[in-house]
Amino acid sequence: MQRYREWLESGGNGCMDYAARYLDVRDNPELLLEGARSVIVVAMNYYPARRQSDDAPQFAYYAYGRDYHEVMRDRLQRLAAYIRELDEGCATRCCVDTAPLRERYWATQAGVGFVGRNNTLIVPGKGSFFYLGAIVTTLELTPDEPCTLTCGDCGLCETACPAGALKGGKPVDASRCLSCLTIEYRGELPEWSREALGNRVYGCDECQRCCPHNRNARPTAVPELQPSEEFMSLTAERIMAMDQAEFSRIFSHSAVKRTKLAGLQRNMAHILKK
Ligand code: SF4
Ligand code: SF4
Repeated sequence: MQRYREWLESGGNGCMDYAARYLDVRDNPELLLEGARSVIVVAMNYYPARRQSDDAPQFAYYAYGRDYHEVMRDRLQRLAAYIRELDEGCATRCCVDTAPLRERYWATQAGVGFVGRNNTLIVPGKGSFFYLGAIVTTLELTPDEPCTLTCGDCGLCETACPAGALKGGKPVDASRCLSCLTIEYRGELPEWSREALGNRVYGCDECQRCCPHNRNARPTAVPELQPSEEFMSLTAERIMAMDQAEFSRIFSHSAVKRTKLAGLQRNMAHILKK
């Protein structure tokens, strides 16, 4: 948590003001659920079986299919119901980026993986293209062994980052990160980002694609995460001409809805400008 606070103090969270809220809760899951004794962490593979063609406006893999909040929440709720059946007195709270919980910390403590220099949770032997979900529960469980692996002397992601957002093993500088800029940032995108973005219109996977741990990534088999034909055939022209009805049809159950139509077209116009 010290590292997290230092990151906030240095302004590393960029425009993500929400990252600085509820620090007391981030420190203590008991403030999320009274009597919490355990955090169960799950990881769901989203590595796509089919990828967009290189000349299409690029979306981060995590946004190819149905919104992970919905997909993960449905499964977590079923798991939580099962846990409550096993122990009638216990309480549960499901978290999918929906609560100030330090998912990557708890994933490391639970032995699911380790946090790489690219700031993602790396599942040994499987890679980092995983959504994380957690169930905070009053059930007292025997903890798994924490994952103690590290990146060692690799630094490929720092070299590969097109925006200089990863340096010296420090947490990401969100004010430069293209994912943050294209998804979270409101307002005009900075001029310097055009070259760095290339044809990325929503998010960036560069620090994951280059990671040796993803060389053996296997495509997800989760049906809801498969991209639609309409999504796969998107072009720059189609995005610029899109109206709200079309945006809603393609993205209303997608993580892309976060930018809204105006944000997606802002990104597209920015990278098209010469
Ligand atoms: S998502 Fe892209 S811009 Fe952000 S840290 Fe990774 S490589 Fe750099
Ligand atoms: S590219 Fe190398 S340094 Fe970066 S996260 Fe992967 S293993 Fe770690």
